[in-house]
Amino acid sequence: TAVEQKEELTAQESADKGFKGHGMLAPFTAGWQTTDLHPLVIERSEGSYVYDTNGRKYLDSLAGLWCTALGGNEPRLVEAANKQLSTLPFYHSFWNRTTKPSLDLAKELLEMFTARKMGKAFFTNSGSEANDTQVKLVWYYNNALGRPDKKKFIARSKSYHGSTLIAASLSGLPALHQKFDLPVSFVLHTDCPHYWRFHLPGETEEEFATRLADNLEKLILKEGPETIAAFIAEPVMGAGGVIPPPATYFEKVQAVVKKYDILFIADEVICAFGRLGTMFGCDKYGIKPDLVSIAKALSSGYLPIGAVLVSPEISEVIHAQSSKLGAFSHGFTYSGHPVSCAVALEALKIYKERNIVEQVQKLSPRFQDGLKAFSDSPIIGEIRGTGLIIATEFTDNKSPNDLFPPEWGVGAYFGAECEKRGMLVRVAGDNIMMCPPFIITPEEIDQLISIYGEALRATEERVKELKSK
Ligand code: PMP
Repeated sequence: TAVEQKEELTAQESADKGFKGHGMLAPFTAGWQTTDLHPLVIERSEGSYVYDTNGRKYLDSLAGLWCTALGGNEPRLVEAANKQLSTLPFYHSFWNRTTKPSLDLAKELLEMFTARKMGKAFFTNSGSEANDTQVKLVWYYNNALGRPDKKKFIARSKSYHGSTLIAASLSGLPALHQKFDLPVSFVLHTDCPHYWRFHLPGETEEEFATRLADNLEKLILKEGPETIAAFIAEPVMGAGGVIPPPATYFEKVQAVVKKYDILFIADEVICAFGRLGTMFGCDKYGIKPDLVSIAKALSSGYLPIGAVLVSPEISEVIHAQSSKLGAFSHGFTYSGHPVSCAVALEALKIYKERNIVEQVQKLSPRFQDGLKAFSDSPIIGEIRGTGLIIATEFTDNKSPNDLFPPEWGVGAYFGAECEKRGMLVRVAGDNIMMCPPFIITPEEIDQLISIYGEALRATEERVKELKSK
């Protein structure tokens, strides 16, 4: 039961005493966790590992929150930050004043993104701010073009685009909407492209993709194409469950949005900079977006920074408005923060120097095949992933429909078993997600797989016990 699970979790805790009932209203944390349990307090990181305040070492299989691509202690990033901090810790980018690191980073990003030519980069502090900015850019653009009714957004069920008002609305996860009066009314959701869970009997991946593209078209026609401004999608869905697209999906969906003059926004916040074994997710799936959101690995998570890449067509329309409206009145105090930009520039330099894309391609089979070898487990429904990102979904009878009772806490049990053995994973119900740093070594991948295997055996036993009760 949940109570037993809770007691067990409490018993397993390391001795982070003194922080129980702490003062933080903690993000994505249940109230009872902060009152009944001690938080896991991380103090230090090194390579693929983090250490808690008791000196316990954990393999960080999620790279922080899908972001510390270069691991826990890349000295070049620290040096870049220190150098910038001691020269110019802050200056802004408003009113045609700016700093060299932000200019250099914009140039670098526009050069690096080659799925199509992009025109400008706008800086934010996070992925959520990047996606909020997307909505404002698209509205501004359509207003400028004299299309004031073309304002709705289509996102997908199970997507994650962030947690500010608009980004949470775009996200297709009920937990982000319930009790927050979301989503806002101009956001619509279409199908989640998860083949295993949602395909019809006998339907191939290609047929599934065709059906989803048809459904998207039906939604557009029902609403009126003149009211739909943009479609937003993660190349591989991340926090919603690590869902790579079915074959031909993006080809078909892009054809639909193009037909109705709807902009395509690629949310590359997790996928960008090598995660999928290509520099961007768009490269992997032949996506030619009008707008791109990036964050996370942009600075390897060392400092907050995100960006929106804007197509030349859109940036030219925005530019042309300036003769009528003056300034483009959107931006943040920390848009293009010089220290974040300096760290991001160094991170991008390292990705290129170390051929990070090739490195991920080399590590990927060991990681993917090693974990997928557990697919036969009677409690695993599906293991899916690509590059260095993967999810395990626990279900009964190999069926997407035979979910374990939530009160069994199967996913949480597995997560706790990993933690006991020195590994941190992302638990979302009975879905376990992993997304290790790019600097993970083959030996560390073997360790990750071995801990996963032990935790899986323990979880199988637990399920057997619960079933026999
Ligand atoms: N988009 C995607 C695809 C993400 O994974 C996330 C964060 N997990 C965000 C947007 C939001 O980014 P942030 O938490 O930096 O606001």
